Amino acid sequence: MNREADLATLRGGPALDLLVIGGGITGAGIALEAARAGARVALVEARDFASGTSSRSSKLVHGGLRYLAQGKIGLMRESVHERNALLRESAGLVRPLRFVLPVREGDKHGRRWLGVGLAIYDAVAGARSRRWLATPELMEQLPMLGPRGLQGGWSYLDAQTDDARLVLRLLAEARSLGALTVNYVAADDLTRGAGGVDGATLRDVVSGARFELRASCVINATGVWADVLRGALGRMPKLRPLRGSHMLLPGWRLPVAQAVAFFHPDDSRPVFALPWEGMTLVGTTDLDHRDGLDREPGITRAEFDYLLKALQTQFPALGLAAGDVVSTWSGVRPVVSSGHAIDPSREAREHLVIEEDGLISVTGGKLTTFRSTALQALQLAGRRVAVLKLAGAAAPVLARPAAAVLAALRGLPDEWQARWIARFGADAAGVRACALDGELASIANTATCWAELRWACRAEAVVHLDDLLLRRTRLGLLLRDGAAGILSRLAGIVQQELRWSDAQWAGEVARYGELIGRCHGVPAGPPP
Ligand SMILES: Cc1cc2nc3c(=O)[nH]c(=O)nc-3n(C[C@H](O)[C@H](O)[C@H](O)COP(=O)(O)OP(=O)(O)OC[C@H]3O[C@@H](n4cnc5c(N)ncnc54)[C@H](O)[C@@H]3O)c2cc1C
Repeated sequence: MNREADLATLRGGPALDLLVIGGGITGAGIALEAARAGARVALVEARDFASGTSSRSSKLVHGGLRYLAQGKIGLMRESVHERNALLRESAGLVRPLRFVLPVREGDKHGRRWLGVGLAIYDAVAGARSRRWLATPELMEQLPMLGPRGLQGGWSYLDAQTDDARLVLRLLAEARSLGALTVNYVAADDLTRGAGGVDGATLRDVVSGARFELRASCVINATGVWADVLRGALGRMPKLRPLRGSHMLLPGWRLPVAQAVAFFHPDDSRPVFALPWEGMTLVGTTDLDHRDGLDREPGITRAEFDYLLKALQTQFPALGLAAGDVVSTWSGVRPVVSSGHAIDPSREAREHLVIEEDGLISVTGGKLTTFRSTALQALQLAGRRVAVLKLAGAAAPVLARPAAAVLAALRGLPDEWQARWIARFGADAAGVRACALDGELASIANTATCWAELRWACRAEAVVHLDDLLLRRTRLGLLLRDGAAGILSRLAGIVQQELRWSDAQWAGEVARYGELIGRCHGVPAGPPP
């Protein structure tokens, strides 16, 4: 991917069948399915790909057990179906994850209630994964659980992924089918013709240059920002932005081989701790987000204390404290508002696909259901774009790597081969080929190696340091202080590949350090 070349093609090219605005999971899914359906499609993203909510999720590809409690069986069925398809067709980028739900005396939901819910979950999935664990077996699996009132626990299967890499893989597939995808290009306004919206005024955020682009159909896939473009058409807002925050602890401090979900002692909301990238990911909160959407969200001290208290109550023997937290992040959910001042957690998580003055807006929903959402949006787009020949859910989500790619990886440890195929698809061969001496070595205690950084700089449209450390790789979250300890070695790779001067490197390091301190660390405030 060469951003400058793609931008030039975008500016100089003919009108498109489809312009997708927004490079999160929703836009990426739409671009892929549209390219697969034969459309001339381009996607523009105002910041970095996946830099919105789609790199800030809990990384679960899940059926949504809690939708059951809300009576949203349809949503759960769709989610389970999509989860199963992704497990089959994502070549390891979506992996099974076993959950355990410890049941304690006095819990909001007991063994029987959860058992019925899980039986329905299994029935929808078409396979039994649930199992009741008596207390001794549960304690064998999770010896650090506090014994207070423990009655046993339910175990069942869901799945997890790396959300940012999933977006990047969808975009890579879309490009391989002819789509243009360009980051740091913002849609500042919409253009209108006789039949309604017929294009957008775009701005290259890097150079500031503006240009117009025409398309038979424009799709607003800007997530929590969707009301901004809708507002340009004079439409009333529909979204209630809700913030959810997470924290990451070293796996050895909170060793969970499987996900553990439990109820928070203060308000009985579900909280979970799950293994991810060798660390333990803890989430999440659910609060009205009142800051401006253009300001990067970060965890507040109150949210931080809330999550820490959940851990301290559930795992009292571990003595977990603020200093154990390696990093934090927050995301803002694009939740379609019911219009009532209800508890945020009771707002429905369904997606919205609407057409207004020719603009199709797609928002709300989940990472898990991106493909069914994309197909629904394209059904609507089909009225304006004659060429669309939707393959529907019949086509696999991600293509299997060709034999030549597998051959290029031969000799690497099996787990690396699997990991690179999952994260890079056909580009996995490029990752290996670009590695210089010593770059096929893991960085600190992570599964990421130096060659992945070099490859990202060379071929994955990195514009800023945070693109590289927070989304192409997740090192900025997995290592303390945003991976400050690797920056001196990283400088050589980045400056060589991106031709950054010393001054540019220093400027990027300062910008990145400020972002990490403000949005990804332990928030200031007194300890609980
Ligand atoms: C805390 C939290 C946890 C979650 N956990 C899960 C989970 O475990 N599993 C799950 O399935 N779902 C989960 N979700 C939901 C899921 O993350 C979101 O539904 C999904 O990421 C939304 O994707 P999107 O592409 O619609 O929005 P985004 O990812 O936000 O993408 C929209 C993009 O549009 C861009 N944009 C905005 N305005 C413009 C413009 N004018 N021009 C160009 N580009 C523009 C933005 O920069 C942004 O990158 C979670 C959400 C949150 C907040």
